[in-house]
Amino acid sequence: MTTKPRVYQTQLAVIGSGLAGFAAAVFALDKGISTAQVGNTGAIAYTTGYLDLLGGCGEQLLEDPWEGLKQLRNDEPRHPLSRVSDGEIQEAFSLFTRALSDMGINYTKPGERNLFALSPAGTTKPTLSVPETMITGVTAKDSGARTLILDFVGLKGFSALELVSNLRKSWPGLTAKRLEFPGMTTGAQLYPEVMARALEVESTRRQLAEMIRHELGDAECVGMPAIMGIHLPDRVHADLQRMVGVPLFEIPTMPPAVPGIRLREMFEQTFPALGLILVPQQKVKNVDLGEAGTVLSLKDSYGDVVIETRAVLLATGRFLSGGLHADRFSIRESLLGIPVTQPEDRAGWYRKDYFDHRGHPVNRAGIEVDELFRPLDASGVPINEGLFAAGILLAHQDWMRQRCGAGVAIASAYKAVEALSGYLS
Ligand SMILES: Cc1cc2nc3c(=O)[nH]c(=O)nc-3n(C[C@H](O)[C@H](O)[C@H](O)COP(=O)(O)OP(=O)(O)OC[C@H]3O[C@@H](n4cnc5c(N)ncnc54)[C@H](O)[C@@H]3O)c2cc1C
Repeated sequence: MTTKPRVYQTQLAVIGSGLAGFAAAVFALDKGISTAQVGNTGAIAYTTGYLDLLGGCGEQLLEDPWEGLKQLRNDEPRHPLSRVSDGEIQEAFSLFTRALSDMGINYTKPGERNLFALSPAGTTKPTLSVPETMITGVTAKDSGARTLILDFVGLKGFSALELVSNLRKSWPGLTAKRLEFPGMTTGAQLYPEVMARALEVESTRRQLAEMIRHELGDAECVGMPAIMGIHLPDRVHADLQRMVGVPLFEIPTMPPAVPGIRLREMFEQTFPALGLILVPQQKVKNVDLGEAGTVLSLKDSYGDVVIETRAVLLATGRFLSGGLHADRFSIRESLLGIPVTQPEDRAGWYRKDYFDHRGHPVNRAGIEVDELFRPLDASGVPINEGLFAAGILLAHQDWMRQRCGAGVAIASAYKAVEALSGYLS
């Protein structure tokens, strides 16, 4: 028996559910554009939760991302961030972080300077905005507060001792302790996501708080891996903090990590209530671009899905998320076959020295867009008037080296939604 496909009609379809796709959906809903979104798990589950704007320029770490942007516009005019003004970036970050807070995860207000936030290895990285559950780690480090760092028996990839030994020179008031996580004391491997869900239960929080109080000594605050709940982490954090009696903060763990999973689950829960048609955990299989509109086809566990839309925003990421695909000879864009700017041949993908401060050309491969963020064909003409693109799929940026992953995603999504809103009106 064949069942009829579910057919949706919208003004906009967002392909991709990473930071760029989610930011685009936030901006589109804010403008009252009827929107559908399709995407499965991608790089977002790996992120620290920090929202970087621009943290690196050559070998230098940037304290002032806005100064860095001036330099970037001069040195790299084709970088996606060079195509967005400071005012637009500020507006994009502030709309996005406000939406995150409204939906249930508080973020710090993006400011004038980068915050130097903790990594799981005990280094720091420049970033513009962090989850509220992590900000005390930044301020405690800056003030040199006496701080106890905790880890847990069975939790791999997060060592309080490693973190303390790497930071102690600049932060002498650090100590490390290892605890057994309540109810998970067999010594078997523990996973942050499971611990985070366990801490949503009040009795687990009470037991953990008692263990922490016992180890506190003269510590003024306590840092621990990011496990304070998946849903409503600010509430879990506040409650645990109240029970322990000193400020607590989270430190991101190695991927896959709770802060990204939180974001994904929060969007998936709140978007449908805001009127967005969400087809989660699926990939678009076919895109039929037309003059008057576009038809997307895919399948989910209920059968075939067809989305008829006037505009499409492509935010499918790079290799990890499947937006780009590399074989032995070249790199291609996976869904529509959009031309990819890339080194002439594979020999040009990498430099000889892995740590070459210029980075590797393969990391700047991606698709070209015009000033309205519409993907271009090989002759430099927009492929379709209603097709737009955003995120790290775009060429001429090296988000990892330049520490600008969220910056590229949020700023380009903002610009693309501004442009497509003009197209739709
Ligand atoms: C280990 C790690 C750590 C990171 N840490 C930070 C950090 O500290 N700060 C920071 O700012 N950024 C960080 N990032 C980067 C950040 O997570 C995002 O990768 C980045 O912001 C780009 O987002 P994007 O939406 O362009 O792409 P992605 O996040 O890669 O999202 C692309 C999406 O498209 C979907 N997709 C692909 N093909 C299809 C299809 N055919 N149909 C439907 N959907 C499709 C994928 O499933 C995915 O959901 C980190 C990334 C990694 C991997």
